[in-house]
Amino acid sequence: MSRFMSARFAGLEAYTPGEQPQDMQYVKLNTNESPYPPSPEVFARLSREEIEKLQLYPDPEGKILRQKLAALYGVGPENIFLSNGSDDILNFAFMAFCDESHGAVFPEISYGFYPVYADLYGVKAKKIPLKEDFSIDHKDYCHAGGMVVIANPNAPTGMEISQAQIREILRTNPDNVVIIDEAYIDFGGTSCVELVKEYENLLVVQTFSKSRSMAGARLGFAIASAGLIEDLNKIKYSTNPYNINRLTLAAGEAAVDSNEYYMENCKKIAATRERTTAALREMGFTVLDSVANFIFAKSDAISGAALYAGLKKKGVLVRYFGKKRIEDFVRITIGTDEQMEILLEKTKELLKEGK
Ligand code: PMP
Repeated sequence: MSRFMSARFAGLEAYTPGEQPQDMQYVKLNTNESPYPPSPEVFARLSREEIEKLQLYPDPEGKILRQKLAALYGVGPENIFLSNGSDDILNFAFMAFCDESHGAVFPEISYGFYPVYADLYGVKAKKIPLKEDFSIDHKDYCHAGGMVVIANPNAPTGMEISQAQIREILRTNPDNVVIIDEAYIDFGGTSCVELVKEYENLLVVQTFSKSRSMAGARLGFAIASAGLIEDLNKIKYSTNPYNINRLTLAAGEAAVDSNEYYMENCKKIAATRERTTAALREMGFTVLDSVANFIFAKSDAISGAALYAGLKKKGVLVRYFGKKRIEDFVRITIGTDEQMEILLEKTKELLKEGK
């Protein structure tokens, strides 16, 4: 840290993104990207003509993409907010809806960026432990007294919370924004997008990074009441109005136009998840019930740290958090069937080697 850094941030513990190592070709199962390429429509759209337009600023309102998403999700364009990855929306939401007197409430084991944003803005964070079985007790979030942030399905567990429970959280928090982070919803969970018509306090956050194979393009979106979208826009226009570049907007439009391609990929990934879960359980692993594109697994025969390190040595990258209560677990992104075969084979080798 240089002597110029503001004292406000001296103690900030920044988010640690998953590894993107360049030293060799890994079977990369550590950051929940899609193993499938963008659709042919996206390839076609990113043409020379699109590149020529780079001399012009992008449409700060992203009108065309918002219209397409609104049509897809059965809401109006005024209910859609676009962002540079969904991290951007979470960032804006902490800025817009929290302050010294209005804190945030989220599960203790969840997406690692929530506590970082709370720290960044000096917002009091109430971190609620998960239940013994790693599920979220929705009652803990009723009458929360602050902005509620719940990933559904949760990360890194992959477990979901029911629509009825989300309704109860919304109903009992009329004066708090409730963020439901649906980054992984397309792999088998039940989206609560429909509920934005009923609850003005609901902010649904989604991303093109996982189910739509565009993690590298950075595109996220929120669906909410027009009022909440206006609030997010106020922050966006006060920080970075051109937060989404032209190529990403164009790729996003083509991705929405080819939605079926992506939903088919999601089905494939869900089927691969079920096969991988069954195979790991067969090998003695405990695997939580996931509806996401990753699984959270542990074995009594090998520590989480040793499994992570051993797999890395054998060319397979998974995610290890090493945090209290989950130090025995690794999070494994669901790749192609072939990639998962390699994971299973290398895991078997490690168990045999007794590491
Ligand atoms: N929410 C959750 C729960 C996540 O796991 C991630 C991915 N790390 C994000 C949001 C952010 O994803 P992105 O910024 O790529 O849209």
